[in-house]
Amino acid sequence: MQTGPRQTDIRSGRLSKAEIEANFSDMHPPLERSEALVEADRCYFCFDAPCTTACPTGIDIPGFIQKIRSNNIKGSALTILRENIMGGMCSRVCPTEVLCEEVCVRNTLEEQPVRIGLLQRYATDSIIQNNTQLFQRREASGKSVAVVGGGPAALSCAHRLAMLGHKVSVLNAAEKPAGLNEYGIAAYKTIDNFAQLEVDYILGIGGIELHNGKTLGTDYSLADLRDEYDAVFLGFGMGGINELRMENDRVDGVVDAVEYIAQLRQSDNMTELPVGRRIVVIGGGMTAIDIAVQSKRLGAEEVTIAYRRGHEQMGASQMEQDYARTSGVVIRHWLAPDRLQMNGQRVSGVRFEYTALDDNGKLQGSGEYCELDADIVFKAIGQNVLWDAMGDAAETLEITGGRIDVDDHRKTSLADVWAGGDCISGSEDLTVSAVQDGKLAAIDIDRFLAGTGE
Ligand SMILES: Cc1cc2nc3c(=O)[nH]c(=O)nc-3n(C[C@H](O)[C@H](O)[C@H](O)COP(=O)(O)OP(=O)(O)OC[C@H]3O[C@@H](n4cnc5c(N)ncnc54)[C@H](O)[C@@H]3O)c2cc1C
Ligand code: SF4
Repeated sequence: MQTGPRQTDIRSGRLSKAEIEANFSDMHPPLERSEALVEADRCYFCFDAPCTTACPTGIDIPGFIQKIRSNNIKGSALTILRENIMGGMCSRVCPTEVLCEEVCVRNTLEEQPVRIGLLQRYATDSIIQNNTQLFQRREASGKSVAVVGGGPAALSCAHRLAMLGHKVSVLNAAEKPAGLNEYGIAAYKTIDNFAQLEVDYILGIGGIELHNGKTLGTDYSLADLRDEYDAVFLGFGMGGINELRMENDRVDGVVDAVEYIAQLRQSDNMTELPVGRRIVVIGGGMTAIDIAVQSKRLGAEEVTIAYRRGHEQMGASQMEQDYARTSGVVIRHWLAPDRLQMNGQRVSGVRFEYTALDDNGKLQGSGEYCELDADIVFKAIGQNVLWDAMGDAAETLEITGGRIDVDDHRKTSLADVWAGGDCISGSEDLTVSAVQDGKLAAIDIDRFLAGTGE
């Protein structure tokens, strides 16, 4: 019988190196050639293909699948990468089940959709791995553009600008480029350092200078960039995380999920990462699923995701929720965190209030409670832009709900400044939409620069 407070159980080495390697192997292994041909043959090559319409970057999906069938892999990759230069990463991380594959006409009760994501990976892998450059730069325009950030939005913008002949300086706060592709995406979705291989491919076009460790608001201001460059693109993502807004939620054992995932992604030896025996994750999006599954795979015994609404309102897709469950994660709905339970200075659990929708559809507490023990509580309830650290950008730009207002071309309220990715209002918060934002902004910047004369 337990007397006194339960002892915290957080330690490294819960699993052997071999077990960790197996747990973090490729989530969807690549197709062999014969498998790719069988899969490509399932495509009906629809006219006005719904899969293409559903792709945020508008890739001609039947077009690239047709080229796989005729063994024209370079042509297939070109069809993908000219719309989405991160087509390699997107083939690994896109929630295809709610994008192209959801609307595939083969997706019926009896049949599975064409596995578009895996075919896209098949077409792009060798091109990226061998650094086969498919794009050339236009003649130099004499114009220069500053691109702030180093993630999908910034790199996509930089690549398109370089293609269009402009000189690009990428100014990135982190030590490495690729943003959340390098520091955030679940480790089993992108193995073998793929994020950096893709960056090498993108920079391979030439005309892009990458400066890591250069932070807007600390090392330079938006005004500095507007003085020095002909145009500016902002793609700095969201560096801050939303707080739980409970009393004393900054105690030991309450951990930012995104920060922990970054540590995990940068770790050379995951057996050394400290892991709790009982984990509670608060949130309902992709980050909540990713931290829960990865905790389980690091050896946590009990992992529970607690979400304050029902499964249909979760940001994570049904497939991701199923994936978490089959990985041994328990998902509990209609629970709002109410109070942390403490063992001295450390968290030892969370008291939740059961929630329900009232007659007006508003979420209400029910006055009933339950408790979950936890050695670690992960906060995964969304991110925000750290405007306090952005210097003059916070005052100069128009901002709604903490994110930058842009028009359809991703132009901000300033005549020479564009923005894209997670930091803009209305963002889908997906890699693929960040890539599309960067591309659209670059095309508009090019139009703007063409009109500004020498
Ligand atoms: C844990 C997690 C898992 C995810 N999993 C998926 C997934 O499986 N599939 C999917 O489609 N999407 C996923 N997403 C979302 C996706 O990663 C983002 O939507 C995408 O990375 C946004 O790209 P971005 O370029 O806007 O920002 P980021 O990728 O966040 O890149 C921002 C870059 O800006 C730099 N920066 C920040 N502040 C400054 C500054 N002041 N000055 C200069 N540079 C700065 C950063 O160093 C970074 O390089 C996930 C997100 C998270 C948090
Ligand atoms: S909807 Fe499906 S079958 Fe039709 S073109 Fe797209 S992948 Fe092929």
